Amino acid sequence: MIRLDNVSKFYYRKGMITSGISKVSLSLDIGEFVVITGESGSGKSTLINVISGVDSYEEGEMYVDGQETSHFSSEEFEDYRRRCIANIFQEFNLVSSYTVRQNVELILQVNGCSREEIDSRVPDIIERVGLAEYSSTRVSKLSGGQQQRVAIARALAKDTSIITADEPTGNLDSVSAAGIVALLHEIAKDKLVIVVTHNEEQFKEYATRIIKMSDGHVAEDLLLQTPEAEDRIHERDYGRIRPAVKLRIGVRNAFNIVPKFVLLLIVFLFIVFSVSSIYANLKTNSQARQAQGYNQYFTNYKDTRIVARNRDKSPLTRADYSRIKAVDGVKDLEKDDVLLDEMYYIENDSISVYGYPCSLSSLHGRLDIGTRPSDDSGVVLACAKSDLGENPESILGKTYTLQSDADTGAEEPMKVKIAGVRYTKSEAEAEGESDARIYLQEKQLASMRHAAYLRVSTVTTRAGTQSYRYTSAENMYPVVASSRVAAGGAMVPEELNGGYADGRARGKKLSIHVENMYFKKTCTLKAAGVYTGRSYKKLTGGQSMEESTSEIFINEKDYDKLFPHGNYQCSVYAADVHQVDRINRVLQKEGFKTLALKNALQGDQFGGVIDIIQVPLAILLLVAVFFISYFVIRLILRSRTSYFGILQMLGMARKDTRHLLEIELMTVAGIAGAVFLVLVHLLDAGIVPGSYLQNLAGQLHLRDDLILLAMLAVIACLIAGRFSRALSRKSAMSNYREEA
Ligand code: ADP
Ligand code: MG
Repeated sequence: MIRLDNVSKFYYRKGMITSGISKVSLSLDIGEFVVITGESGSGKSTLINVISGVDSYEEGEMYVDGQETSHFSSEEFEDYRRRCIANIFQEFNLVSSYTVRQNVELILQVNGCSREEIDSRVPDIIERVGLAEYSSTRVSKLSGGQQQRVAIARALAKDTSIITADEPTGNLDSVSAAGIVALLHEIAKDKLVIVVTHNEEQFKEYATRIIKMSDGHVAEDLLLQTPEAEDRIHERDYGRIRPAVKLRIGVRNAFNIVPKFVLLLIVFLFIVFSVSSIYANLKTNSQARQAQGYNQYFTNYKDTRIVARNRDKSPLTRADYSRIKAVDGVKDLEKDDVLLDEMYYIENDSISVYGYPCSLSSLHGRLDIGTRPSDDSGVVLACAKSDLGENPESILGKTYTLQSDADTGAEEPMKVKIAGVRYTKSEAEAEGESDARIYLQEKQLASMRHAAYLRVSTVTTRAGTQSYRYTSAENMYPVVASSRVAAGGAMVPEELNGGYADGRARGKKLSIHVENMYFKKTCTLKAAGVYTGRSYKKLTGGQSMEESTSEIFINEKDYDKLFPHGNYQCSVYAADVHQVDRINRVLQKEGFKTLALKNALQGDQFGGVIDIIQVPLAILLLVAVFFISYFVIRLILRSRTSYFGILQMLGMARKDTRHLLEIELMTVAGIAGAVFLVLVHLLDAGIVPGSYLQNLAGQLHLRDDLILLAMLAVIACLIAGRFSRALSRKSAMSNYREEA
């Protein structure tokens, strides 16, 4: 049932070809106890390896039950070994870190046996080879004779028709050897047992046939007994290893050898640390780049600022403000959005401080110096102590000018007195973001708001057939409130006469239209008259008229219609830039129209170039990390080559050995990832100090953690894949030899 027809096997090594066996023809049957002898190097091992499908052959043909095997794929050879062959090796080929029982179980697990079958067969077999009391002893603690018994037990457990043994007594003393020979004889019934030995005396008593090898040829073939012929191989219907068993063994392997586990853990910590650094670095850079952008409509583009307004453009109400404030993560609400995009200076000869104006009603708590103001012109300053010079107290009660850098100087700057000060962080402490504020009475604030609205508005006055346009850049035809003009009327400059057919504006209709990013308003009035030098003085309360004078004076009530009180837009500051996107979404869901400043910035022109350099650089680094890790892991796993060689010889498919390795590496990688993330987030929470990792932690959120773990798993898989490809390029035998 096994027939060799002129079979030759060559070894190629360093350009040299040696022949293991040449032109061997043989026929072997079930029931035979074949002993192969011969000098060292005569080809005994080669012959037995070819017969058991562990090694390939180059010439001739081997038939198994009449079937040609020369065209077998490696999978078909795996299948043949799994169903028909059990090997016993001279070097035992046991997993020395496993117990006796685990070693015997392994062969059944690898071949897909069920738990029940394993439990029912294994103890009997261990008993049969006389090792019952060593069942849970590690193989590395056993003597040579005992280890050979384990190897035999393993072959017995597999219970195939063909058992091969390469010098099974070679490493044993004569007493142990005699026991092994008897054991082999005992199991030989109904099987084909092929034993290689250079001591044929030991087997004389039991052998049915002795084949003498010499120089790769069969020199002598001596039949001692005719076997009770049974000419077909009884094939076992073994399958592949079960997934649950694979998982269990893979995880067990991760911890089996402690030094190996520790080394792998260190490598994976290195990987997770590098990968997360590269990742966080990339993220930091892209955030920094976003923050470096600009926006033409805003000068205050703090990355935590979100601008919100009602969808229907109606003014914001108290209820709106409380809905906004209720959103989780909102730190500050700035009602006077219009005042946020200009710089306001409060200055005199000795100091100059800038800040954002806001209402005294939003100032709570203690002041550091001075008191809250009692009169209209009093203000409270919130700024860094260092901005106020040597003697901060000296500024209290003095008069300062308060004006915007957007102010064209057409109007008199506002005069204020500093009544009190609260100290804030300096710009350096606040990382360049000034939190300086100027707290004013509502009346003052309203006039600043009006002035600010006017600065961002286009005012079109239509008088007869002509239009006169005001913008802050041109500063012609501004609209000014005056109590000296009756409601519904307007005092206009002389130019406006030109719009009417009769050249007289007085008593005619004119309309004023105000438009800005917040609102559009129109008001229709009647020209009460054209002012002259004298009436101009009255209207302005003392100013003299100049050549360029072009104001249009209207009643305060009409002015309020054009520039209404109340706010159409407000600004929200998030406590943390990471929360901006979420807050933005919540506000939109609440019905507000919003704009997060950090998303509204145009990147600087180098942004794209930096991306082009940085992303491939990160990929390059990742590849470098991968290869460094791969080579280190390969070194660590070198000692595992023989383990995987054993598994392959026990009949495990290549794919399954790869899975085992993947599971092993992923287990360690998972532990490394978990250790790293726990550490980093403890740092983040401030429980353990450490600034570099803290910065890293600031960049890693749940989604990033998951991405990181996934990347780690992919790297573990890639390494396992590469390593097992390297394994499978060689035959099972040469993997085993590499270690031997
Ligand atoms: P034996 O088992 O009888 O000692 P082998 O089958 O191991 O003999 O070796 C037969 C011949 O093949 C020898 O000449 C040996 O040098 C050669 N040989 C065996 N294994 C290899 C190998 N892995 N690479 C190269 N030559 C080998
Ligand atoms: Mg040999």
